[in-house]
Amino acid sequence: MDSDTTETSTRDHGFDLEADLETRERYGLRRTLEPAADVSARTRIDSRERYVFAANNYLGLATDPRVQRAASEAARAVGTGSGASRLITGDTELHRELEDDLAAVKHTDRTLLFSSGYAANVGTIAALDPDVIFSDELNHASIIDGCRLAAAETVVYDHCDAASLAVKLRSRSMDAADDERWLIVTDTVFSMDGDVAPLAAICDLAAQYGAWTLVDEAHATGLYEDGGGIVQRDGLSDSIDVQVGTLSKALASQGGYVAGSDTLVEYLVNEARSFVFSTGLAPPAVGASRTALQIARDGARRASLWENVETLREGLDSVGYRVLGETNVLPVLLGERVDAIELDRRLREQDIVAPVIRPPTVPDGTSRIRVAPMATHSDAAIERCLSAFETAGRDLGLI
Ligand SMILES: *Cc1c(COP(=O)(O)O)cnc(C)c1O
Repeated sequence: MDSDTTETSTRDHGFDLEADLETRERYGLRRTLEPAADVSARTRIDSRERYVFAANNYLGLATDPRVQRAASEAARAVGTGSGASRLITGDTELHRELEDDLAAVKHTDRTLLFSSGYAANVGTIAALDPDVIFSDELNHASIIDGCRLAAAETVVYDHCDAASLAVKLRSRSMDAADDERWLIVTDTVFSMDGDVAPLAAICDLAAQYGAWTLVDEAHATGLYEDGGGIVQRDGLSDSIDVQVGTLSKALASQGGYVAGSDTLVEYLVNEARSFVFSTGLAPPAVGASRTALQIARDGARRASLWENVETLREGLDSVGYRVLGETNVLPVLLGERVDAIELDRRLREQDIVAPVIRPPTVPDGTSRIRVAPMATHSDAAIERCLSAFETAGRDLGLI
């Protein structure tokens, strides 16, 4: 009895979180929060006015008066929260109107709203319960977590490489049972590289092997044809089985969606645990997204964004930087972590906020600064950004 007591008192089954944080600090890996005054293209951070080239609020709609008004009207007319899961009492006309609008943009029978893009991916992949998932090596964390939760065999193929996918499909098909369910999963736009998945080739391979396709349009939704994503740009709406996306980036609010057939949506309503056991999206988020989507469809904002993207890409390129990708996200490749960190610091001194992306987020030797232009950056802001990159790059001998 006595010895039992002694043993218990020397045990420590707790969690040493301090030690973890200290280790992160020591290796320069600790992340911290940095509050800003608002989420516009020019805002106060550390009580200084700064130009922000870091937000996914690509169309600048999170501070647009029309979108703000829609959010407050939804709060007044419907409520600030949904009060329950959609399957209980949290289903409103407003939710259905946004789902109809999104279905029109995505050219599918239906869409279903989730509380976030993260919840949409995790819940949908797990609900489909595939036997084998073929996944791009750089897919978003929410896709990776969906694969884990589904407990499927996950086969990772080389980034944006349809030939690599073809090899993996062929080799896995050697010992496949006939009734196995296969899912090919990819982001459409990769936010750290600004590149685009080879969707047409992926669809051809999926058709050849009878696999399903799930694509994540988080960074593309709202920015292409009629407010759609890459799937719409490439005319592949009928070839993709499941389109996932978020309302939290260009659509300026919060929430996720899944677009697909009527049957898919009915199945998810029954089977996706992150839908069934989570409160319906808050009405202000639904109202804001609905108006943001209308503005995105209208086109003028999209045109401003792409104009800013072109000016920045050409400007950075012409002073000697290497800019990756082919989309609205502009990753400026530096290579060495120290160079990227120092450039980030110099840019901040000139009131430009564009975050450094370094290992482990990206592979060793590919540290970069991720520049995310917004439709609402003025010509002066774009000029200021370019001249800060030029001055700092020359000073540091990077260009
Ligand atoms: C941001 C993002 C998500 C998550 O969306 P949230 O609505 O922020 O949860 C999912 N997939 C990709 C590719 C993303 O970039």
